[in-house]
Amino acid sequence: MRGLMQDVGLTLQMVTERVGELYGDKTVATKTAEGIRRRSYTEVVERVARLATALRQLGVKPGDRVGTFAWNSDRHLELYLAVPCMGAILHTLNPRLPADQIGYIADHAGDQIMFIDASLAPAWQQVPPVDSIHAVVVMDDVSEHGHDGAAVLPDALDYEALLASGADHFAWPRLDEGDAAAMCYTSGTTGMPKGIVYSHRSSVLHAMASLFVDCLALSERDVLLPIVPQFHVNAWGTPYAALLTGASLAMPGRFMADPPSLATLVAEEGVTVSAAVPTVWFGVLQAIRAGAVDPAKLSSLQRIVCGGSAVPEALLRGFDDLGIRMIQAWGMTETSPLGTVANVKSTLAEDRILPARLSQGIPAPSLRVRVVTDDERVAPWDGSTMGELQINGPWIADAYYDPQAPQGRGGQDRFTEDEAGRRWLKTGDVAVIDADGYVHLRDRTKDLVKSGGEWISTVELENLLVAHDKVREAAVIAVAHPKWGERPLACVVKADDSVTTEELLAHLGEHVARWQVPDDIVFVDEVPKTSVGKFDKKVLRQRYGDYQLPADHLPPA
Ligand code: ADP
Repeated sequence: MRGLMQDVGLTLQMVTERVGELYGDKTVATKTAEGIRRRSYTEVVERVARLATALRQLGVKPGDRVGTFAWNSDRHLELYLAVPCMGAILHTLNPRLPADQIGYIADHAGDQIMFIDASLAPAWQQVPPVDSIHAVVVMDDVSEHGHDGAAVLPDALDYEALLASGADHFAWPRLDEGDAAAMCYTSGTTGMPKGIVYSHRSSVLHAMASLFVDCLALSERDVLLPIVPQFHVNAWGTPYAALLTGASLAMPGRFMADPPSLATLVAEEGVTVSAAVPTVWFGVLQAIRAGAVDPAKLSSLQRIVCGGSAVPEALLRGFDDLGIRMIQAWGMTETSPLGTVANVKSTLAEDRILPARLSQGIPAPSLRVRVVTDDERVAPWDGSTMGELQINGPWIADAYYDPQAPQGRGGQDRFTEDEAGRRWLKTGDVAVIDADGYVHLRDRTKDLVKSGGEWISTVELENLLVAHDKVREAAVIAVAHPKWGERPLACVVKADDSVTTEELLAHLGEHVARWQVPDDIVFVDEVPKTSVGKFDKKVLRQRYGDYQLPADHLPPA
């Protein structure tokens, strides 16, 4: 017998309607050069209708790709709603990628219109021409009063002028929940960017799950500051979650890397929850320690969602000391991105609490994870059997976008199916799962060091190094070794000039087996970062791949 319930599609139109009807007096605030611009959600929803009519006049049809090249702002939020709700596909591009990659991505996705922040116009001008793009719209984030888009980029339209040309009412089409809503390309940490296509259904379910108390616990009472860029996996889906539940938003505009601006935004908007990668939060702690940020300005901030790379204990404790709870989450562009969240189960023994908070967490409701070993066995949850992490669930990618492949479904070698017909994404992350179900990431497949047939986790060594108070940043890479195949080399940024190689190797020797201690340390001014703030080990490997390790290092036992 079939269930006898109404068949209501889960589409983002639901989000737009709800926020307009119930939370019209809540606001989105955007940091600008001249202060903070606030708009009520009533105003946002009205502008979304105008934007959709204007886009229709520009010829945008269902299924067309509308690109954005922009920071986090109220306008970007309007595009988040108008584009998918009219049946078109929002494609957020990462302006920090190299120009030729941006051109490749826009061309691969078949973008037809591009919305560009004026402050990013110089970056856009470096991008090779993309044939499919027939209109460019400039969003002025430089001068508050706006000016002709064409003055910024040749032949460009101005966003506010475009909106003014739209009508008050748009007849939203009926959409299928399986239709594409948005696209995002991976940031290419381990290869060429790959396109992920989110559906309306996956986006709505992902937003709903973010609201669960045992997930990210976003609620109507919150004021959310997404520092993670809107071009990076939809700011981790947080804008849709905030709108669905009626939480106000604070957007950092082009000031997302500036701790004093972020602190001002927190203080002025009463931000309660924020989300960003560890690098950003290290920057905030350093600014506090250097006296550039008054911690009192962060007094409304209760929680931080942190992920994108491992959260070191030193960072977690730094925020614990400020009374701000850091919650680690793990995810990928392919997982929308919410995969696992490190909330503490009430049944955990006292001594399991810190390891749980430092793990990547347990899968969000409706997701499943498993670890598959090199010899294709599903690993037991014993906290020690290592293998590739695989994930299944309603907001996990089932293919990479390939315009040449049937139905665009490419990259099938990254997916697998079990006997029950369940589909699994192979994440390329190496992990163990403990008896409580917490995932502990050991490394990315490509970053692991294989020494004398044994794996060494670079993440573990990095966490131990940054726990040392004379270390600011540390990245460990594999270097070829004639006898052991590979050996670890640590690249360290000093926090204190007096620090020595011997001191750091001795510190590591207290925590890991002798054969896991790196063979040497190179001191660097800065660890190179990818466009989304992760360590760029590709660059380090190029720089130090043939580094001559000292001969006198203790051989691995
Ligand atoms: P890219 O794959 O180009 O780096 P993504 O943003 O999709 O872009 O990165 C996903 C990857 O980031 C994961 O596969 C994982 O390696 C890493 N990652 C994400 N969250 C965490 C975390 N909490 N701890 C450790 N690594 C993480």
